Amino acid sequence: MPKISRRVTLRIYPTAKQAARLESVSERHRILYNAALEHRITAYRRAGVTITKGEQEKQVTLIRAEDPDYGALNAQSLQVTLDRLHKAFKGFFGRVKRGEKAGFPRFKSRSRWKGFGFKSHGDGWKLFAGEFEEGGKQKRSGRIRITGVGLVRVRGRARLPGRPKTCDLTKQNGKWYASVVLECEPHREHGEGACAFDWGIDTFLTIATDTGRLIEVDNPRHDRSAEKKTTELRRTLARKKRGSKSRAKAKAELVRHLEKVANRRHDFLHKQSTRLVGQFGIVATENLEVAKMTRSAKGTVQEPGTNVKQKAGLNRSILDGAPATFVSMVSSKAEEAGAKYIEAKTRELAPTQRCHACWKKPSQRKQLSDRVHSCEHCGATCGRDENAALVLMRWVREELDVAGPAGDRAGAGEAAREGGQTAETPGRAA
Ligand SMILES: [Zn+2]
Repeated sequence: MPKISRRVTLRIYPTAKQAARLESVSERHRILYNAALEHRITAYRRAGVTITKGEQEKQVTLIRAEDPDYGALNAQSLQVTLDRLHKAFKGFFGRVKRGEKAGFPRFKSRSRWKGFGFKSHGDGWKLFAGEFEEGGKQKRSGRIRITGVGLVRVRGRARLPGRPKTCDLTKQNGKWYASVVLECEPHREHGEGACAFDWGIDTFLTIATDTGRLIEVDNPRHDRSAEKKTTELRRTLARKKRGSKSRAKAKAELVRHLEKVANRRHDFLHKQSTRLVGQFGIVATENLEVAKMTRSAKGTVQEPGTNVKQKAGLNRSILDGAPATFVSMVSSKAEEAGAKYIEAKTRELAPTQRCHACWKKPSQRKQLSDRVHSCEHCGATCGRDENAALVLMRWVREELDVAGPAGDRAGAGEAAREGGQTAETPGRAA
């Protein structure tokens, strides 16, 4: 089986001394980044010369030989910083080429600088997972050794499901994190049978299975329940005087709250995606064009959107449920487990429009506010999300020849298929 990469982010707990060293290493990386950016700009302006990453790497080697501050830093890690700049330029030129809003790479102020990274395990950093011996004593938490910083405590035992490859050290809201990429053997187990899920706002998941079962998973609406508090905290913050101590305190409280909300949501998505892959061998859904769904509300200057306010609320909910994150979790877990994950093309299949029973589309487009599917052709009635899940499940059968009343392929969405699917979902069709 092919190896897979996985990113694990660990909170690290430097002592005051170590934190000061982390800051100073990070600061030198920031200075290097800005200097390398300036170097590229001036070379281009003065001589029309484009400086490459390779040339800058050579210069850094010279700098390291002369400047002990830089000589003390890990060479590969400095390359990582140059590489970040290189990628920023690549992104910029790519956007220019595609005629998008370009955004020239910018100088990094202290507040915009996130940290630094390492290329390979054992070169500048080393992670010790699980039980750890220090001064003859058994320590129960993991440690990470960082060149120029020391041996830093890691949250928990840092059990790792693979071999560490690269590491990024970042500071967020005053806390340090080690984001480690692991190479691991896929070992997840998958279940049997097929399912198709529709993602919704009222119900997080509506799952149709190949055995005709229908499973609903409620949306926890973490943000919704925490929204009151968010609003409260934002209001408190807005009342505080700029630059005051109490403002800083209020801001910290808001950040902590938002972090908590995001973590809870992340946990929920992880649990649900794990469960789905654990229960089924084939998992299908439609290709969510989330970016488009959320972008469309405001419209453009030429063509302002309608119902902006309602849609903005909907967009919020779409983001609350974080379908894109969820879908990527499902697909990577399926890959790990050797299960199959497939996406239907939303435009062609139109699972929210099409009827699961007769495969026909309504003469008038269903609106998002229509919560019930009621087919004008065959009379089938069920919930909107349920219909979408059933359409997707039927599509899976045909796509993969999953056992069931398959064989009669739906031709271009026109072939009437009364009987077959209605029998599969007793009580669902009128
Ligand atoms: Zn129908």
